[in-house]
Amino acid sequence: MEINQFYEQLLSLPEIQIEKVNVTEKRIEIHCQSSQGNSQCPQCLKYNTQVNQYYRRQIRDLDISGRQVWLELKERQFICPSCNRFYLERFSWVQPGKSYTNRQAKWIFELCAKQPFTQGAALVDLSHKTVERLYFEQARQEVDLPARYAQVSDWELMRLLIGKASIPTAVCSLT
Ligand SMILES: [Zn+2]
Repeated sequence: MEINQFYEQLLSLPEIQIEKVNVTEKRIEIHCQSSQGNSQCPQCLKYNTQVNQYYRRQIRDLDISGRQVWLELKERQFICPSCNRFYLERFSWVQPGKSYTNRQAKWIFELCAKQPFTQGAALVDLSHKTVERLYFEQARQEVDLPARYAQVSDWELMRLLIGKASIPTAVCSLT
């Protein structure tokens, strides 16, 4: 099997194709691009093929064999001829503007549910502040808050989470 196909099967991320893979001692860098022909305008919902420019975006995915996995995505910015709007292509496995995949965010959430943010952060090589922010973002999705709770603080969110999901041990000791 060709190496790119091997990694495509291993990652199982839809909507992309792999161009090249670089494996170093600590990282697996996966150069990839969209496999979708067109992209839907978020405003008028029409499908467009007119690419305005490309950006390089780095996205962290789940580690493989102790190596960090980084997707080097060639991201396309489209221009919609109908409403003259510029927009970036979206993918089902990463939120707009985020530098980690949805499953990486979920993994960090689970990791931090069992230990303090500082320890979780060390395991994924991120700052504890980043991990803490990521935890609460994910927690809001896990709890699936009704609209009236949209503005709830992180601490109120914690109270809602108790009994429903795991709580970081550092937080448990404070409450
Ligand atoms: Zn449009």
